[in-house]
Amino acid sequence: MKLSALTAYLESLAPLVYQEDYDNAGLIVGNPDQEISQALLSLDCTEAVVDEAIATGCQVIISHHPIVFRGLKKFNGKTYVERVVEKAIRKGIALYAIHTNLDNVMQGVNTRIADTLGLKNCRILAPKHNLLKKLITFVPQSHADEVRNALFAAGAGNIGNYSEVSFNAEGVGTFKGNEFTDPHVGEQGKRHRENEICIQTIYPANLESKIIMALILAHPYEEVAYDLVPLTNQHQQVGAGMIGELEVPTNQESFLFHVKDKMRTHVIRHTAFTHKPIKKVAVCGGAGGFLLKHAIAAGADIFITADYKYHEFFDAEGKIVIADIGHFESEQFTVQLLYEIIRKKFPIFAVRLTEVNTNPVKYFI
Ligand SMILES: [Zn+2]
Repeated sequence: MKLSALTAYLESLAPLVYQEDYDNAGLIVGNPDQEISQALLSLDCTEAVVDEAIATGCQVIISHHPIVFRGLKKFNGKTYVERVVEKAIRKGIALYAIHTNLDNVMQGVNTRIADTLGLKNCRILAPKHNLLKKLITFVPQSHADEVRNALFAAGAGNIGNYSEVSFNAEGVGTFKGNEFTDPHVGEQGKRHRENEICIQTIYPANLESKIIMALILAHPYEEVAYDLVPLTNQHQQVGAGMIGELEVPTNQESFLFHVKDKMRTHVIRHTAFTHKPIKKVAVCGGAGGFLLKHAIAAGADIFITADYKYHEFFDAEGKIVIADIGHFESEQFTVQLLYEIIRKKFPIFAVRLTEVNTNPVKYFI
């Protein structure tokens, strides 16, 4: 298939607009029209991973971390980033990253950590704002169902665990078409009154063009009246980190044994125990220190993340246990998640997990 078929699918699940400002997720190297038959999945895109792609006949590497974050000005092989990009271009291997956009969606990196730890009742720890909009449109009663159905099918009307959410009010619309019109109801040059339904529904802003297209195709009028309203509401399904609960509260020491085992980590760096049982658990794959305030505010007993620095550990202030399990360790199941996502949609497309351990951190125990 074409590379664009794979990337379009991944971006329907983890839209690029959901990535953080500093990120560089998306197609970094490669032509969207390139034919591909096999993809290699890896947390990081290192030279060894590019060599593995060449040796195994993969035309695309899908990694969680982008190989390029900042602008590259020279390509003379001085750094591993330059060497990876240069080799990928020379060998015709596409490089694609699905990073903070995958962190920030409900079925992403953090859900995989939460599931691994057996957390229930999970929700996004810091939902994002300004990603939702409201559509208000006016439809003749005869076509209200058809238009609602089209809007819902295009992705409108989802709030939390509810779908097909809309508000509908009856009223009378008026219009008068000029000599260039062919009105669906009424006559040219005469004011017409029509019983209409005002449909209001919410939608993710990134689906706007698809939703407007669906509205116009399903609506019977020549000119469709609609309002698009930006909202500052939280998007409950998009944002950083996750918080969930253990079915049975457990003491802190046994919980860390559980984390060590399930997350396959050699060592956990943590703050002093607060000697409260662990019930609520906040998690964030990778460097999640910026979420500590959210974890405390949400009443988490422990915050499992990575990349904590010495002074940042003091911020626990005896209110929570901070547990740093290692960056690679926290995100290591992401490749398995990507594997499952791709195989579910493209069952006969070949997907391979890297055999390279790309963790740059070694433990001397
Ligand atoms: Zn990471």
